[in-house]
Amino acid sequence: MSLPAIDTEYLIGFLTELLNTPSPTGYTQQAIQLAERHLAQYPALELLRTRKGALVARWPGRSASATRALTAHVDTLGAMVKEIKSNGRLKLTKIGGFAWNTVEGESCTVFTRQGSAVRGSLLLCQASAHVHSSEVGDLKREDSNMEVRLDIRSKSSDETRSHGIEVGDFVAFDPRVELNNGFIRSRHLDDKACVACLVAAVKSLQEAGLAPVQDTYLHISNYEEVGHGAAAGIPPEVTELVSVDMAAVGEGQSSDEFHATLCVKDSGGPYHHELSQRLRELGDEFEIAYKVDIYPFYGSDGEAFWRAGGDVAVALIGPGVDASHNYERTHTEALLATTQWILAYLLRD
Ligand SMILES: [Zn+2]
Repeated sequence: MSLPAIDTEYLIGFLTELLNTPSPTGYTQQAIQLAERHLAQYPALELLRTRKGALVARWPGRSASATRALTAHVDTLGAMVKEIKSNGRLKLTKIGGFAWNTVEGESCTVFTRQGSAVRGSLLLCQASAHVHSSEVGDLKREDSNMEVRLDIRSKSSDETRSHGIEVGDFVAFDPRVELNNGFIRSRHLDDKACVACLVAAVKSLQEAGLAPVQDTYLHISNYEEVGHGAAAGIPPEVTELVSVDMAAVGEGQSSDEFHATLCVKDSGGPYHHELSQRLRELGDEFEIAYKVDIYPFYGSDGEAFWRAGGDVAVALIGPGVDASHNYERTHTEALLATTQWILAYLLRD
């Protein structure tokens, strides 16, 4: 048996569209809708939304003896307006785990309650080298030293409020997607890359006229970055869950941007050994470019389901992403390897 063909152009096209759809955790409706529109092309899939806002697709297989699920998340790092400062600029609170220096100087959008989008950029409060000299390099990048300079005329909190901006508005940082020589450079490849791999796998199997070996649920999570995404929304008949999320690339890591990785242990401890072994066997059998790795500071939605009491086998696979939770980058080869692995898993007992 060989794996069905993957439409690489579609995968990258959908990924780019998804990356350009802002979706900080808590503000993911548009990204969920986009995934839903793409999956709705396949009548075999039954789509539903959980009350929490995740997208779940039920995909009937040839057997219902051991129902499976795969999850990937559309929510990303981002921020929320914490305070409107007396100088008219905004103090933010982070959504998800990242360091301020990774978004310093980045353009951003503030989404107001009335539905308008106000542009600006995240800067150090003492940003000008000609005014603050060495402070620009020395100041600690912490909440109190960072502010959003909005592209509106405002010198007071009232003037800023007159543009509809309020405490609690969501803020998204620009992804800055760029494609070069097979590389995809963008913020939020975590985990939109894997959502794209899942959707591309569906397209591949559907166009080949194939069905998964077991009834399978695809869970598109919307609260992963804050730790409880897949805690809900995995149906009770599911026996095993494969979390599809980025692999951590860096010094001491075996993962890279050209391979998919099986993560056998992260901050939440070891994953399910037998399921991980099966994925390795599939990787070998189908000659998938994969690595095995351990991520030192990492948690997944699979573990979120375990912590919520999910009695299933959990494993974690995904493409290597360089500079994660920063200005990220991966390569098409890693996305294809991940999609092949998903296909192998869907098709094999
Ligand atoms: Zn992730």
